[in-house]
Amino acid sequence: MIHDTAQTPMPLAIWWIRRDLRLFDNPALHQALAHGRGLIPLFILDETLHQSPYMSDKRFAFLYEGLRVLEQALQKRGGQLIVRRGQPLAVLRQLRHDVGSEVHLFAQEDFSPYARDRDTAVGQEFSLTLTGGTTIRPPEAVRKNDGDPYVVFTPYKKKWLAQTLPRATNLHDAPEKITLPAQLDLTSDPIPTTPALPDTVPFPAGEAEGRRRLHQFVQTGIFTYGQKRDFMALVGTSSLSPYLRLGMVSAREAAVLALQAKAGNKTEHGRVGADTWLSELIWREFYVQILANFPQVRGQNFYDQYDHIPWRNQPDEFEAWCAGQTGYPIVDAAMRQLNTTGWMHNRARMLVASFLVKDLLIDWRWGEKYFMQQLIDGDPAANNGGWQWAAGTGTDAAPYFRIFNPIAQSKKFDPQGDYIRRWVPELRDVPDAFIHEPGQMSAVAQQKANCVVGHGRDYPPPIVNHQEARQRTLEAYKLSREHAQNS
Ligand code: FAD
Repeated sequence: MIHDTAQTPMPLAIWWIRRDLRLFDNPALHQALAHGRGLIPLFILDETLHQSPYMSDKRFAFLYEGLRVLEQALQKRGGQLIVRRGQPLAVLRQLRHDVGSEVHLFAQEDFSPYARDRDTAVGQEFSLTLTGGTTIRPPEAVRKNDGDPYVVFTPYKKKWLAQTLPRATNLHDAPEKITLPAQLDLTSDPIPTTPALPDTVPFPAGEAEGRRRLHQFVQTGIFTYGQKRDFMALVGTSSLSPYLRLGMVSAREAAVLALQAKAGNKTEHGRVGADTWLSELIWREFYVQILANFPQVRGQNFYDQYDHIPWRNQPDEFEAWCAGQTGYPIVDAAMRQLNTTGWMHNRARMLVASFLVKDLLIDWRWGEKYFMQQLIDGDPAANNGGWQWAAGTGTDAAPYFRIFNPIAQSKKFDPQGDYIRRWVPELRDVPDAFIHEPGQMSAVAQQKANCVVGHGRDYPPPIVNHQEARQRTLEAYKLSREHAQNS
């Protein structure tokens, strides 16, 4: 409560933190500070989100760690993080009551259907300024000439790149001081300590770590990104997705640094690497604008000609996929990486998604949900985009007849089996020649490699025959397309 009784002409500014846990280049924070009279940094532990079946313990733990880091950063600048638990509207009403003054909320706009509904409801009762920052360009900024949203990536990217590119001078410095309004004494709930981030998750939370990774990547890894990014055993990508997910780094800063890296590099492959990485940031923007413009994709095929696929949805096969026990080493390695670390290599995501949908004929929504429950970078837009891409049901998706061969992909992108051996220890002693198909070893060779393949033995046999599954899937997709044509 403010103790002085003087008139307060301006409402108090609240920086409502959601997925922007950073001080550098934060438009919501920047605008809130410009409002004057100090500001209240607020994080709401939203009960609705906590109860969602799409939530992940690992992602919550990463968020809580990130909040602790942010709290310290605010304290260093003379500020205080206010954490409150509850439904956003109820929390905001209570806070307004506690400060005894009108408040003006500043928040980074988010585009999931839940976020939009929440903000609409809050905006009806409070002054709410929504800023950019989740993406480099807001979804409505990149549209076709007729005003329609893009549903194909390449022309979207072309338009995105044709607009004024972000520059270092556009970035907002981290403020030196962030103080609460004078004489304000507010209670704050504790930042939860459980769930805790397991040691197996190689992503320390916080802005300093996110920016350290970004700056290191644009000095080195970005230049070989084009060559290395598909090889699952290599550290060939930035590993920035969890930080981008919760705004521990600014996507705009990432783009500025990628453009600078490109401009400063004299080699062809270095420039291609920087361009390719920037393209991935644009894929991120593409899927955000898909979700913003077509919110029904959460739950529905983008193209309804696939609404009648006769999914098999076998629970035991789904469980084997989740647990990394399919008998396909590359699929199992990837799923175990996910279950252990909360992250999975992009090539591996494409492979396991294709395997679930097109080899096991399990509805992509099952996989989408499981990923959201495991990934620390789990993002409604990118995850949905990735799953509908793999299923062939989405915007600019892999054609329905493109079905990854898990053995061929494994040989191509994990040639020595290093990734497989790291995550599937029972295959550690299997020779290179059989690492992708251990069941092909003779009985003697299996004994020698300490890996007997069979039900209830060291490693399971393949859960499905890929060639047969492929035919089954082509037939299932054909049926759905015919159904759509005839109805
Ligand atoms: P880098 O290769 O270094 O790329 C830099 C950044 O660009 C990433 O951090 C990410 O923010 C963005 N990006 C890269 N590729 C994509 C892409 N295809 N779509 C959208 N953004 C991309 N990414 C998520 O952030 N959250 C998800 O929940 C998610 N689910 C996915 C599900 C499936 C089935 C598939 C195929 C992909 C999914 N992706 C998701 C995209 C991609 O796999 C990850 O962004 C990437 O592996 C993260 O690793 P990185 O940070 O090293 O990426």
